[in-house]
Amino acid sequence: VGGMAAVADSEALAALHKVFGYDAFRGEQEAVIEHVVAGGDAVVLMPTGGGKSLCYQIPALVRPGTGIVVSPLIALMQDQVDALRALGVRAGFVNSTQDFDERRVVEAEFLAGELDLLYLAPERLRLDATLDLLSRGKISVFAIDEAHCVSQWGHDFRPDYLTLSLLGERWPDVPRIALTATATRATHQELTQRLNMPTARHFVASFDRPNIQYRIVPKADPKKQLLSFLREEHAGDAGIVYCLSRKSVESTAEFLTRNGIEAVPYHAGLDAGTRAAHQSRFLREDGLVVVATIAFGMGIDKPDVRFVAHLDLPKSVEGYYQETGRAGRDGLPSTAWMAYGLNDVVQQRKLIQSGEGDEAFRRRAAAHLDAMLALCETARCRRGQLLAYFGQDPDPAGCGNCDTCLTPPETWDGTIAAQKVLSTVVRLQRERGQKFGAVQIVDILLGKRTGKVIQFDHDQLSVFGIGQELTEGEWRGVVRQLLAQGLLAVEGEYGTLVLTEASGAVLRREREVPLRKEPKKPVSAGAGSSS
Ligand code: ADP
Ligand code: ZN
Repeated sequence: VGGMAAVADSEALAALHKVFGYDAFRGEQEAVIEHVVAGGDAVVLMPTGGGKSLCYQIPALVRPGTGIVVSPLIALMQDQVDALRALGVRAGFVNSTQDFDERRVVEAEFLAGELDLLYLAPERLRLDATLDLLSRGKISVFAIDEAHCVSQWGHDFRPDYLTLSLLGERWPDVPRIALTATATRATHQELTQRLNMPTARHFVASFDRPNIQYRIVPKADPKKQLLSFLREEHAGDAGIVYCLSRKSVESTAEFLTRNGIEAVPYHAGLDAGTRAAHQSRFLREDGLVVVATIAFGMGIDKPDVRFVAHLDLPKSVEGYYQETGRAGRDGLPSTAWMAYGLNDVVQQRKLIQSGEGDEAFRRRAAAHLDAMLALCETARCRRGQLLAYFGQDPDPAGCGNCDTCLTPPETWDGTIAAQKVLSTVVRLQRERGQKFGAVQIVDILLGKRTGKVIQFDHDQLSVFGIGQELTEGEWRGVVRQLLAQGLLAVEGEYGTLVLTEASGAVLRREREVPLRKEPKKPVSAGAGSSS
């Protein structure tokens, strides 16, 4: 066996040099490739940019037959295949964007043994015609890309992936390799089970991206905050700014352009030509900023993205990690910067409640949001929290390259403040049968006689004006953190505040509520450039 492995090894190395033009394998690549070339199943967890593609491309070249790559990213298949063909690899794809004739050509090449790699969308494997086609050719390896899509608890579930468990039953002698860049401990286990790969070897690369500095600042005037962040730290750099809505994508791109920063919008509402033009400008030009919805970035392989900025809260830690991971693939210092505020929490909670999907779907979405909020509100190392989320043990001493390590946030005993907020919510509900949003609650605490306060006689409440010791911004911070900690909840389309089961313990003084102090000023620019 040792001799066999050595031969396969040298063939793999030859392919690496000759086909791909690289000197050496990176990280786990060599071990993965050796294992798969020898016929073993593998589950590979490697962050974006880690080099997952070679892990199946080289076995496909070395082993006899065609490597079948299952990928949900239909839009990227053409590019991937073109890139491989340019290297002299015989690659093709079959998906719904092709007409009958184009598909026939690729199928014929496969049957004639003229393909090294064949890319397929997962939904094709539901078709008997596809399974039939595959049984008539010779397959070297099955690669299941974006394997986390099989997990129902993950953030990107695709039902078609559930059919992939049949591959092992129908082709027991063909090695399978499942790859993903986002897997928590739970998703990792689930995907192994659902893909039916009990004997697979697991290769887990570190998810740490030490050159990325993580920073999350309280949102005040997000566009202006973004502008000074860019001016002070990333003038002339290429980067991506993520916004939730198309409208804010457009207005942010305009705002940056007006302020002398070259920026283009990217979202699904733009026509395909404009999107392609903006994407290729981003790849080609130096220092262009793309303002985008999450539609942008899948498969973007630009090494010198110096920053990724979020003006809105991502829906999950997996999403945040994937999006920020597009920064600094060249290993040079880069920044993941996010502005986050009370409205983000209220909005996302509302979205989950009023959104489509059954109860289980909502529970899952809420759990993902909770993990994201915990990351935002942590007073500990952000990187540590991220790594722990992905099942890795972080350095207990902190990373020294995130905002909480660089400028440790002060915490304070927010128990009394929390009680004040919660009892205002209780009073409104018990005494008046009313529910209100955060703005009204804060106005009542501050004793502000606004139109709406007068209209509802809220200046007659016993809690009116009992919160003069904090500023408006600080009260919003308290409410935000209570929401994040699950001590307060949002309800209905107006985002009214209501108690949770956990609120009672605070009101009864049975538990304390440590809170993060709101910085007077966002974490200052250049905080990391000294280290
Ligand atoms: P992933 O799929 O894990 O996000 P890719 O397979 O796209 O990562 O690889 C990321 C980048 O690293 C690509 O530009 C790829 O060509 C490059 N790369 C991968 N392996 C090596 C290697 N052994 N040596 C040099 N560059 C590599
Ligand atoms: Zn840190």
